Amino acid sequence: MSVVVVGGGISGLAAAWTLAERLPGAAVLVLESGREIGGKLRVGEIAGVPVDLGAEAMLARRPEAVDLARAAGLELISPLSTAAQVRAGGALHPLPARTMMGIPSDADALRASGAVSAAASERIAAEPDLEPLEPITEDVAVGALTRARLGNEITDRLVEPLLGGVYAGRADELSLHASMPALFARLGSGGSLVRAAQAVVGAGTRAPSTDPVFASLPGGIGRLPLALAASGRFAVRTDTTVRLIDRTAHGFRLTLGPVPEPEYLEVDAVVVATPAAKAARLLRTAAPSAAAELAGIEYASMAIATLAYRDVTLPEGSGVLVAAHERLAVKAVTLSSQKWPMPTGSLSVLRASIGRHGEAEALQRQDGDLLAVVRRDLAALLGITAEPVDALLTRWGGGLPQYAVGHVERVARIRAAVEQVPGLAVCGAAYDGVGIPACIGSARRAADHVANALSQRGE
Ligand SMILES: Cc1cc2nc3c(=O)[nH]c(=O)nc-3n(C[C@H](O)[C@H](O)[C@H](O)COP(=O)(O)OP(=O)(O)OC[C@H]3O[C@@H](n4cnc5c(N)ncnc54)[C@H](O)[C@@H]3O)c2cc1C
Repeated sequence: MSVVVVGGGISGLAAAWTLAERLPGAAVLVLESGREIGGKLRVGEIAGVPVDLGAEAMLARRPEAVDLARAAGLELISPLSTAAQVRAGGALHPLPARTMMGIPSDADALRASGAVSAAASERIAAEPDLEPLEPITEDVAVGALTRARLGNEITDRLVEPLLGGVYAGRADELSLHASMPALFARLGSGGSLVRAAQAVVGAGTRAPSTDPVFASLPGGIGRLPLALAASGRFAVRTDTTVRLIDRTAHGFRLTLGPVPEPEYLEVDAVVVATPAAKAARLLRTAAPSAAAELAGIEYASMAIATLAYRDVTLPEGSGVLVAAHERLAVKAVTLSSQKWPMPTGSLSVLRASIGRHGEAEALQRQDGDLLAVVRRDLAALLGITAEPVDALLTRWGGGLPQYAVGHVERVARIRAAVEQVPGLAVCGAAYDGVGIPACIGSARRAADHVANALSQRGE
């Protein structure tokens, strides 16, 4: 039996890992168009120190990523600090404790942070006594709900920066159902938004867990894809673009390589683990209705500037998020050498991200000009005016999918259409969550689906 996984990001590699486990004896091959595997997980070097150029943390409270890293023989590291700040109203404030993606669940913690006005804190304290929300059974934009119920200040100063950090997206566009599924489920019976956030955050109902929320790997999270591939459980071919997946009588025919010199590969099953636009092109003949749905998923582009400094004093904590209307291009800064145990010696390393959905023009500058914008913003945000000893700019065109209102239903339609084709499955950041554990979860689901289909065929 032969299975091809198209796309060598974390989703494709996790799918290949699971396929090799589920189908011993099958030939599992990952085809990756880039020169390197890993997709948005990639390590680089700044001033001789290894750093992540894409994703830099994985949620440790979900099991998928930490389990996979351990299974691949990797040791995990915990953050040294997770105390983040938010720049709002022209000043830095501690991010209020016990928020759910920026939605406050504790008015006292909100007041203590100073991130919003006294009136906004009072509004949160009073919200549970307002007329209860009607049950929310249809998806809405996060911002439509939070603006109506909690006000613009909370939305712009807390919800926007959190969603901007995770999705490079906008509160007024992102789906409540897809980006906050636990909160959406709670609001299915209506009531208070603050109380629903409290229930999700767990405030008052149990002691806060002391386990770290995030984890990484020594040398960077970008080592995870390399370790999976090095396991030898499956084969990997880089520099190989798949152009089309056609059905045959017993499986699939893949068209690969350069257009003038195509190569064909016949296989029993395929897992498509590419971003949505690429998946749409690949599936246009094998699953046309899924392809049409996939083509409608938009992406945000972004850039990460990584800078190394000698002899600068950084503010305390792990990083800073930037609220809406702060007139800064930088939307978040991670103080990497304070957040993670890194062999930086006397250097300070930080990374700044630029770019949100619908703001592609902010990125349309030469690298040097973009780095100058970042340095201008770092001076305004953190008071850093020193010359960095090294600087890197990494562009992530189409970096993060945008889960628009109705995304969950769209994904269900895509899966239903794909699953009508025996031996075909899809996975990746476009479906059930953009974070690394969610990508791995979708990969396992795709691999299990294909393994079950092939096992049934073999019976
Ligand atoms: C800058 C940035 C920072 C992030 N930070 C975090 C973080 O700290 N924590 C976190 O959990 N998540 C983070 N994310 C999100 C997370 O990294 C991604 O959602 C996840 O890595 C996506 O993995 P994937 O395998 O689904 O897709 P990708 O990483 O996009 O991999 C898809 C692969 O498919 C290949 N491909 C595409 N088309 C073809 C084709 N036709 N043929 C063959 N190969 C093809 C691509 O080259 C690519 O390697 C971040 C994302 C970005 C962009």
